[in-house]
Amino acid sequence: MNSEISTKLEIERSLRHRSRFVQIAPNLAAHYQSQRDADFNRLVDLWSPLLLLAFLGCLGFGLIFFRQHLAGPDLHTYALTECLAVGAGLIGLIMARRAPWRGNTGRWIPWMFGFIIAVKVASTFRFHSAQLAHNQIYMTLIVLLVGTLALQQSLFSSFKGMVIGLSAFLLAPWSHTSTEFTLLFLGQYLLAACVCLFVSFIREDRDRVAFLQARLLHIEKLEVNRLAGELAAQVSRDSLTGLYNRRHLEDTLKSEWDRARRNRNSLSMLMIDVDHFKQFNDHYGHPTGDQCLQEIARVIAQVAQRPADVVARFGGEEFIVLLPDTKLDGAIELARMLVRMVDDAAIPHQASSTAAWVTISVGVACCTPHDLLRKQDLMEAADKALYEAKHQGRHGFAIGHPHAMTERAA
Ligand code: GH3
Ligand code: MG
Ligand code: MG
Repeated sequence: MNSEISTKLEIERSLRHRSRFVQIAPNLAAHYQSQRDADFNRLVDLWSPLLLLAFLGCLGFGLIFFRQHLAGPDLHTYALTECLAVGAGLIGLIMARRAPWRGNTGRWIPWMFGFIIAVKVASTFRFHSAQLAHNQIYMTLIVLLVGTLALQQSLFSSFKGMVIGLSAFLLAPWSHTSTEFTLLFLGQYLLAACVCLFVSFIREDRDRVAFLQARLLHIEKLEVNRLAGELAAQVSRDSLTGLYNRRHLEDTLKSEWDRARRNRNSLSMLMIDVDHFKQFNDHYGHPTGDQCLQEIARVIAQVAQRPADVVARFGGEEFIVLLPDTKLDGAIELARMLVRMVDDAAIPHQASSTAAWVTISVGVACCTPHDLLRKQDLMEAADKALYEAKHQGRHGFAIGHPHAMTERAA
């Protein structure tokens, strides 16, 4: 959780101070890259038939429009250039669809892109025909535009591709072309490269911001879910003992009552009260009283261990154990065990007139819910039985019988 919080703070800082480029923290870089790769792969999956057509179109374009210039060495240059460029493009398409290249596009795409530009640039200076050379400038610029804008590579990858492409200019045997043509080529290339880099920068900046904002939202969603879980637990728990509280008990009693009525099952309840607890507090002090309640809560929770059993602090020094699908003899057995286990805990109580240690009294009630019986009848019966147990001298249990409406009226 701490790492989530520090990531969140880091993201908020990055979004607040975005002077040049929004920074992606190193721990998020791999995630960001894999998201970019996934975007690229989606792009390739969607558009590869069209890209294939574009490659073949490039090949046919020159053949149709410049056929009168395609002769001798220019034909060889043209054929070689197009074969290399289209071949690299096709290999790129295949690589983009296969592991491990599919998830690693930042590594090879700039080289592939740079290679295609380099081939175009080199051929520009090899053509003897001015028309073919000019056409190749435009083709180079188109590749530049498509490569940076459509492939959606990072600013650095685009820049790398452009530099690799331009390196062919230095190696090309361009001495036979005029200075004017060379300057025209350089000017157009650099202008197009600047425009492409600018657009690439804006797109990548937006990409980064969108990624960080999505990440922030994700972290905040996790945080809200966690807090909601904690809140739900707090709402149903008693803060002193960690047992369920009265609200949870009442909710569960309602659902268990309905379930028992539907299935015609028995539902039992134990109402537990600590004997002479006021004297305990007066004698040992309130903080020790709290410790005593915690210890008794631990003992009760230890005894009632079936998954469906609900142990709750009902208020003050009173506890309730709800026992679904439990008959009276089972509930009596548990009450007997509880009294004994609290005795075994042997919490000293010098102010008690019952024993030298803390004791409890238990009211036991059991019924099979039906239409004429209410869940309050079960609680009232357990309460009466507890009163009876106190009346009988405490440190024991008594049994109460829930009465239906008609019986109460009679
Ligand atoms: P009886 O044997 O008849 O049950 O007598 P009793 O003294 O236990 O019953 P009474 O209802 O007179 O006193 C209950 C005492 O429980 C009074 C109150 O100070 C104490 N009590 C209630 N809640 C807490 C609590 O959260 N912590 C502590 N330390 N004491 C509590
Ligand atoms: Mg009481
Ligand atoms: Mg009491």
